[in-house]
Amino acid sequence: MKLTLFGGAGEIGGNKILLEEGKSRIFLDFGQSFTLLDEYFVPESYLSPRERFGLKDYFEFGLIPQIPGLYSKEAVEHTSLGYSSPAFDAVFITHAHNDHVAHLPYLHKEIPIYMGETTKKILDSTAEMTTQKYFDEENIVRTFRSGNEIEVGEFKVVPVHVDHSVPGAYGFLVEGKSGRVAYTGDIRKHGQRADMSEEFVKKAEEFEPDVLIIEGTRVGGDSRKNHTEKFVEEESAKVAQNAKGIVVGMRYPKDLDRFRTFYNIAKESGRKLVISTKTAHLLQVLGGDSIGLPDPFNDENIEVYCRKMKMYKKFEKENMEKCATFEQVREMQKECVFELDFYYLTELVDVKPVGGELIHSMSEPFEEEPLSKIADGVLKNWCTHFKLNSHQLHASGHASEQEIFGIIGEIKPKKVIPVHTKKPELFPKCAQLKKGESLEI
Ligand SMILES: [Zn+2]
Ligand SMILES: [Zn+2]
Repeated sequence: MKLTLFGGAGEIGGNKILLEEGKSRIFLDFGQSFTLLDEYFVPESYLSPRERFGLKDYFEFGLIPQIPGLYSKEAVEHTSLGYSSPAFDAVFITHAHNDHVAHLPYLHKEIPIYMGETTKKILDSTAEMTTQKYFDEENIVRTFRSGNEIEVGEFKVVPVHVDHSVPGAYGFLVEGKSGRVAYTGDIRKHGQRADMSEEFVKKAEEFEPDVLIIEGTRVGGDSRKNHTEKFVEEESAKVAQNAKGIVVGMRYPKDLDRFRTFYNIAKESGRKLVISTKTAHLLQVLGGDSIGLPDPFNDENIEVYCRKMKMYKKFEKENMEKCATFEQVREMQKECVFELDFYYLTELVDVKPVGGELIHSMSEPFEEEPLSKIADGVLKNWCTHFKLNSHQLHASGHASEQEIFGIIGEIKPKKVIPVHTKKPELFPKCAQLKKGESLEI
């Protein structure tokens, strides 16, 4: 078996891992490398790859591998790679974060995409409520559940659920004729469903893998404390209970553990949780699942806020009468927790907070990333302008260094391939691969 890293090598995210056995070839994840993209583009400032030319601009800077038989006609028609018939058996997706799925739109339409049922629902909801698309009706999308055995060519792939900051995340156990590979995807052991990560680790240990591909986002130089979701909830509850004005909550849109935390603190402090139509749609789509999410339009603790727009999404038009306007949120500001994405801060101009609190429940900006530093400065100014006290309260979606090394110790693979990390050299039993480099298993 041959393993090649086409993304995720020495960088956080962008995972694209190729496994080859005989004539069978499968990819594990198909994400966008934001670290690399940021070297040549500043998407937030309109300097973005020209989507109308497919992969042309991506190829120019080596942001995506030039491999025949991997991409759709439209993706390569303006490039020197040219079109070839599909040469891959499948792409397996661990979870719904863009650094694992964002390159799917360029994939050859005849290459089947496998993902968890929840991941498909989340991506469908995102496609419906934003401009981001991942696949269309021409793609072959197949869903799985934890423990399913999926045979593709010479490979047998078993997805096993793990805990991460998005629901429906998986690791994979991949068996070929000549070797066994375990892959964690993104994983943590300090979240609310640590039991799922434990189950993956146990199954991976029993699997006796030759190679463990493991994430290492927080390995090396991460001085932040390993806060748990419970800690975030307790501290946020104090903020909400003592607040005299509005409580603004900022979190990652797909982090539904944090949604639950905000829901709980709103309820306990006698406030309503005001959510976006995007979140309401996601809750409805996932509503039938067993993960216990409230029905946004039939829960007395929730108010759905619809931004004033010139054009509305279908879902917003259908539910407009049940949504709150900015005037209503302004009225109830002292009795609500208002969820707000950074991109929608301008809503505060309409809501007009008269003092209050802001809970920033996301990663702290990394000093070395100029854009996030700028965004941080802007957020501070908005807080000052609207007299909001800012609170940094976050539990990471990724295992700490100690947890990662503990997982390696439990699984006991022959070799470790670190991905999704800037510090691969710190890993034990490490077979360090650079981008495009292969390992024979
Ligand atoms: Zn990731
Ligand atoms: Zn992730």
